[in-house]
Amino acid sequence: MGLTEKLAINPKVRNRILILDVERVNGITLQHWWDRKDLQKRYIHHETVIREPRTTIVCAKWYDQPDVMRFTEWDKGGRGQFLKRVHGLMARADILVGHNLDNADVPWLVGDFHLPREGHKHRPSLPPLPPFKTVDTLKVMRSQFKSGAPFKSLDALCKLLGIPAKTDVYDPEAMERAVAGSVEDRVRLTDYCEGDVIATQGLYDTLRPYIKNHPALFIDGKNKLTVCNRCGHEAEPTPRKYVANVLSYSMLRCTNCQGYTRLSIEPERMSIVRGV
Ligand SMILES: [Zn+2]
Repeated sequence: MGLTEKLAINPKVRNRILILDVERVNGITLQHWWDRKDLQKRYIHHETVIREPRTTIVCAKWYDQPDVMRFTEWDKGGRGQFLKRVHGLMARADILVGHNLDNADVPWLVGDFHLPREGHKHRPSLPPLPPFKTVDTLKVMRSQFKSGAPFKSLDALCKLLGIPAKTDVYDPEAMERAVAGSVEDRVRLTDYCEGDVIATQGLYDTLRPYIKNHPALFIDGKNKLTVCNRCGHEAEPTPRKYVANVLSYSMLRCTNCQGYTRLSIEPERMSIVRGV
């Protein structure tokens, strides 16, 4: 079992898992200057901003559904309808999956849902999202592989692992043209975003055995102690013990993804022992 095999989540899992990716238009600022080098370490003051970065495209896919949903600022209904639809989708998700999701897509979208963006007239009025868990595949790479995986971008990982991914080269001017009305650029950028969603699901399936802290998956009527937390298949006892500083725990291994879990509750070990 290795990184080049993909392992699907048990179809009986009831959590709603949403794979998500966004594209944005960048910000524009006006700067006063005497000399070109003046701007080398210049901080962007909000008084000089004529446009803040904002999300313009969101593509998302339910893990167990084949279709990728496409949402854009230029859809019928404009930015208000766009954000409302994405918000409604995220409000129904138990787990969000994405590459660099925790430091990019999620905070960006939360900003888009609740704050006006300089340079766009829309003023959002959406309620706070209900709580959700996230799986950030970039964080998985960082924590589990560190410098053992020198290239951690979605593109680099997909090429390396043979995961089908986008082929288009990202052109930063394309979003400017799309926002201004270019149909060709709108379609190409949304296709690019959709490709990233599919690639992210591929990476998520590939990395699953290494996602130690995956949010718990639940299956109706199943003994939760023997369900693998990352793929929902049955985990069975192994002869190995997980050895912590003082206590040791029974260890289980998933029969599907071969990821390990440990049982933290063991009645025969309830006495409290600490090193002194
Ligand atoms: Zn598993």
